[in-house]
Formats: sequence, structure tokens, C-alpha cells
Amino acid sequence: MPETSTAIGIDIGGTNLRAARVSSVGGILERVSERIDRDADGAVRRIVELVRQLDRPDVTAIGIGVPGRVDARRRAVLSGGYLNLAGTALAERVERITGKPVVIDNDCNMALVAEIAVGAGRGRENVVMFTIGTGIGGAIVQEGQIVRGRGTAGQLGHITVDVNGAPCVCGRRGCVETTSSGMALARHVAEAGLPAGTAIDDIVRRAGRGDAAARRVLDLWVRPLRAAIDSASAAFDPDVVLLGGGLGKAAWRALRKVPALAPWYQYPVEAAELGDDAGMIGAAVCALIEHRTVMPPPVAAELPVLERPA
Ligand SMILES: [Zn+2]
Repeated sequence: MPETSTAIGIDIGGTNLRAARVSSVGGILERVSERIDRDADGAVRRIVELVRQLDRPDVTAIGIGVPGRVDARRRAVLSGGYLNLAGTALAERVERITGKPVVIDNDCNMALVAEIAVGAGRGRENVVMFTIGTGIGGAIVQEGQIVRGRGTAGQLGHITVDVNGAPCVCGRRGCVETTSSGMALARHVAEAGLPAGTAIDDIVRRAGRGDAAARRVLDLWVRPLRAAIDSASAAFDPDVVLLGGGLGKAAWRALRKVPALAPWYQYPVEAAELGDDAGMIGAAVCALIEHRTVMPPPVAAELPVLERPA
């Protein structure tokens, strides 16, 4: 791979599509973002538009982090949430239009690759990561490789923490996503009678001052997360557990007040470092790893004329 090779990494988030051109050492050179389109075809068009804004001759490949269950080896999106790209042939379509090879993977796998390359997991070979945002995602690296199972391993948000708990989108009850995600936090806040939209930092401050309602919210939110971390650690024996996503740092701070539940499961838990950039950087790094050869530039005449999104 030439030193000058770059890749475009794209992260499909809940609100925004983010894209960056990333250097061969994982640095962001240029970035763009757009509002996400809830319609799958519209989303594909916008992805292509972002690629065209960032594309340069030194871009050798494109990586896309997709929320939901993704079989990266088959480049198939199996299921998604608010934006369902299942059955859209996402990788093939972007590849055909842009003329550059495309890798896709679950967004949490991409984020973990980035944290290991240039973030909080640098130099670690065995890492478990929980990505805490609206929901809870997860990713596992063992001996330097992403754990994939048959295709979609790493759904850590669906570790059961209460068999009699609230119903989960996956069809079971009491998954940690139902107790310790952003959505669950909002529910705990409402049930405790705190003002809607109370920020997590405010809850931590109130709890520190001895506010019983805030303490209860933190307890309901973070104790099941500790149980899930202990379960994942029992299964994977990681060097470190990382907490990423929009609420990762807050969860890490809150968790420091809740010790591991049993002496067997004492693992370092750290906040991820790259924040919202992790998905883009990881997607680009995966693309660079997989496509070490420089592709010929696409024939301009083959590029379709795209409508600019409104
Ligand atoms: Zn579940």
C-alpha cells in the first residue's frame, strides 16, 4: 500500500451521515456530513454524493459502517432499525457508481477497529466494546480479529440482565439495551419524576449531592450495565472493556461508582476516545486493510448524474 493511499470512511448514524477521507495512519484529512435519509434508496444516493465530494485519486477504497446486523464477509445487511438497508445491495451499488471497492460492516465493529488503531484500545489484542447511544451495540476483538461467529456476533446490547424485564426489539425480555441505553435512561428519568430531557451529567451531579431520585435513576441505568460487562468479560476475558457511543463517557463515569459484582470479573473499563469519529475512521481503516492495491480511476462517463439532495 503506498504511503499516500487514503480511504473514505462513512458512518450511517441515527441523525447524520458522516464521511471522511482518512490517511493510511488513521488521521482525518477532510470531512463532510449530511442529514440521513430514512428511505433506503435516498440514503444510497446521499452516500454516493458524499463519496463524490471527498473522492481523490489517492482514495483506494470506501468503507461503510451500517447500524444493525451486517454479514461483512458476504457484504449483506441482514436487518436495520430506523433506516433499513437490508436487501439494498448497498456495497455493490456504491461500488458500481463510484468505481472504488467497498467494504461494509456493522458500525460498532468499525468503531472498535478505530479505537484499536488510533484510540483507547491501541495495542490491545482482546477488547470488548459496548456502544451506548439510543440503543446499545457491541463489538469484540479477540487475538486481533473481529469475532464474527456465523456473521453477526457481538450483539452485546442483547445480553440478558433481567429475565422478567421489559420486552426487547430482539423478541426477548430484559436485554441490557432495555435497561441501560439512552432510551432506557429517558424512561428511568420520567419514572423518577425528574424533568424530561435531564442530561446525564446533571443526574450524576444531583446524585452526588444525595438526591434520592437521581441516585435511583443512576442505579437503574448502570447496575445492569455492570452485570452485562461482567457477563461479556466472563465469556471473552478481554484486556479492556471500552464504553463508546454518545453516552459512553457518561456511563464510564457513572460505572466507576458501581464495582464489579464478583472478584472473578475484575477488568479495566475505559471510555472510548474517538467519539463520533470512531465509525468513520474505522470504516476507512477497514477499507485500507482490505484493499491494499490502488484501483484504476473510474471512467468519468460511467458516473451517473445525480440529483443534488434538497
Ligand atoms: Zn434484546
